[in-house]
Amino acid sequence: MNQKKLIWQIFPPNLLITLVAMLAVSWYGSTALQKFYIQQLESALQARAYLIRERVSELMTEGRLEELREFCRKSGREALTRITVIDLSGKVVADSNENADIMEPHNSRPEIIAAYKGLTGTSIRLSRTLQENMLYVAVPLKRHGHNEKAAADLAVSGALRVAVPVTAIEQTLRDVQAKIALGAIVVIFAAALVTLLVSRRISRPLEAMKQCALRYSRGDFSQRMCLHKGEAVSLEVATLAASMDRMAEHLNERIKTIVRQRNELEAVFASMSEAVLAVDTDERVISLNKAAADIFAIDEKQASGLLLQEVVRNIDLQRQVRQILENLEPLQDEIILQHGASERFLQTNGVPLQDGNGRNIGVLVVMNDVTRLRRLENVRRDFVANVSHELKTPITSIKGYVETLLEGAMDNREDADRFLKIILKQTNQLYAIIEDLLSLSRIEKLSENEEVELSLGNLRQILEEAVQTCQMKASQKNIRITVDCPEKLQARVNPTLLEQAVVNLVVNAVKYSEAEAEVIVSAAEKKLDDGTNRVVISVRDFGIGIAKKHLPRLFERFYRSDKARSRKLGGTGLGLSIVKHIAQTHGGEVAVTSQEGQGSTFFISLPAAGKSEE
Ligand code: ADP
Repeated sequence: MNQKKLIWQIFPPNLLITLVAMLAVSWYGSTALQKFYIQQLESALQARAYLIRERVSELMTEGRLEELREFCRKSGREALTRITVIDLSGKVVADSNENADIMEPHNSRPEIIAAYKGLTGTSIRLSRTLQENMLYVAVPLKRHGHNEKAAADLAVSGALRVAVPVTAIEQTLRDVQAKIALGAIVVIFAAALVTLLVSRRISRPLEAMKQCALRYSRGDFSQRMCLHKGEAVSLEVATLAASMDRMAEHLNERIKTIVRQRNELEAVFASMSEAVLAVDTDERVISLNKAAADIFAIDEKQASGLLLQEVVRNIDLQRQVRQILENLEPLQDEIILQHGASERFLQTNGVPLQDGNGRNIGVLVVMNDVTRLRRLENVRRDFVANVSHELKTPITSIKGYVETLLEGAMDNREDADRFLKIILKQTNQLYAIIEDLLSLSRIEKLSENEEVELSLGNLRQILEEAVQTCQMKASQKNIRITVDCPEKLQARVNPTLLEQAVVNLVVNAVKYSEAEAEVIVSAAEKKLDDGTNRVVISVRDFGIGIAKKHLPRLFERFYRSDKARSRKLGGTGLGLSIVKHIAQTHGGEVAVTSQEGQGSTFFISLPAAGKSEE
């Protein structure tokens, strides 16, 4: 685009107009002047011709040729006029300046032709005789008579021509033209100056407005159209400035609103617990929120603009995005992200992303981390399977023996007695499992609802009561249980639950120890490495011990290190799981150390009661 400054659009055309106008005026003026001069001169020459015509006619009619020539020479000299007399044949009869005899015939000259016709002829041209521009005026000569009236009627007998050089007129005209040209130059300069000033005056406020508009375009609305106060600007410019100011104000307001709304949206976006990811139609990330950045372990600022494959290395999600881009329909799915050894389950909700005009611009995926949910579901599923399995074993056994009895074993008193004892044992096992399951669910429910009441309790007393409960079983195997606990040791506990936990541990210790063995139940306050005080209860036995590989999973429900032995001893596989839950409801943990064949020690560590609470 050919763009010129305003001043260059106003200044040159104005100058050109002035120039053309001046030239036209000068040309017209000088032409008119020249015409006027020539007319004046023509009249004067005509007057001179008329003055001498009478005399010339007379001399010519009378044939006084020499006298005529003398008259012409004399009159011509005095009047500074060339006088030529031509007869009807065109021959020059007399000439004031030249020898008439050697002059060429003059009948073809235009002024002469006009005079022959009885008119006054005029002509300006180069005199071939004198080599000079001359103005010629010719009048007809009539034969001279005494009677005036008769003379007027006489036919033309020749032509009297008077001429003056026009060089003087041309010189005068040139002088006048030079003066006009000088005047024109002065006017042009003045006009140029005025045009310059006017165009600068028009362009200056526009220039200021341009600067201001440039600032607006950069988003700087701090200043309004900076027209100088008191500066005379045209109504149009002032109106334009005012409307641009209004436009800037509106724009500023709009931008502020948009920025505020964007900030609000960003805040919402960032604080959402759901991971949100937006990609464009080329599968490049438009944006993702903090939750998404955390899940995919990427810096949220660096992610935008990257390809989805570079941000999320998950084929399923990429496929899902592609499918939504193709079908333009929402899609729900679930993907599994591998996080090192662990898995993360994400429920995804993808929708096509549209701009304000309804044009498709990409895909928005909202992801919910359902890992906990899935894990819980898995735990529940495993639990149901385990429970069914645990219940199935005694029930199958009971069913088998009842059928055997019905099929005739009842008749044999000895067999019947044996089978019924087995059935009783299996029933007890069932009962024990159900008892344990019920107490497990009760404890879970209490801790979930935070309904476990904790109070400062004397630990020694609790341990002794637990030991008391197990005393009978211990005595059967002749096992000695000792309690080692400071008299005044206290902790914030639920005595009933804690006693149950200790009982479970002591029962196990007795169960998995040889006869005559020893079990030590102790409790003490210990300072941990992190500086916190804990009350640690331990139950130590010197029995069969547990292989190292079982230790990490020992506290899981139904986990048994030795299934056959556990069943034989009437174990449910839930005892340690109950202990773990009780410890957790107290804000504590469980642990175990063991050496196969040498015995095991189980620990319950609880937060120590603060001194102030004692
Ligand atoms: P169970 O009712 O089978 O004893 P628990 O949950 O109490 O169930 O114990 C889980 C498993 O831990 C037991 O089957 C057993 O193999 C092992 N165990 C628990 N306590 C001891 C212990 N003191 N000595 C050796 N093994 C033990």
